[in-house]
Amino acid sequence: MTERTLSIIKPDATRRNLEGKIIAKIQEAGLKIAAMKRKRWTRYEAEKFYEVHKERPFYNDLVEFMTSGPIVLMVLEGENAIAKYREVMGATNPEEAAPGTIRAEFAENIEANSVHGSDSPENAEKEIALCFDGAEIVG
Ligand code: ATP
Ligand code: MG
Repeated sequence: MTERTLSIIKPDATRRNLEGKIIAKIQEAGLKIAAMKRKRWTRYEAEKFYEVHKERPFYNDLVEFMTSGPIVLMVLEGENAIAKYREVMGATNPEEAAPGTIRAEFAENIEANSVHGSDSPENAEKEIALCFDGAEIVG
């Protein structure tokens, strides 16, 4: 089934100029970029995006980190895009990420782990609607 997922290249990766290397891994996996933009989140935008993690102990640090520099937001499209992109990213903790995955190769630690990817069809739809206007998704 063709799906869409939201991808974010996080501030630790933009700071180290890794956008191209990360996008290469995404495209090598056969995922298409249907929309892409670079921006810097306000605290409010980061809090809203990570609302699901509000009660987690790392929430404040995460919001701080995600507003610490520019991010690159993408809508990715393809066959089983949600699961496929989670595979390309690797485990949340880079020490547990499979060799060759984005997080195994580039993540600094469990928080500064270079990328985000939606974890379910429901969340993908919500996250895409929160981050993009329909007209920005051009295929
Ligand atoms: P993401 O949602 O960014 O794709 P994920 O689904 O693998 O990552 P989540 O459990 O949703 O992981 O956590 C969201 C983000 O919060 C992680 O990507 C990471 O940046 C941060 N995070 C998760 N667990 C921890 C932790 N134990 N300590 C610090 N930061 C964490
Ligand atoms: Mg998640």
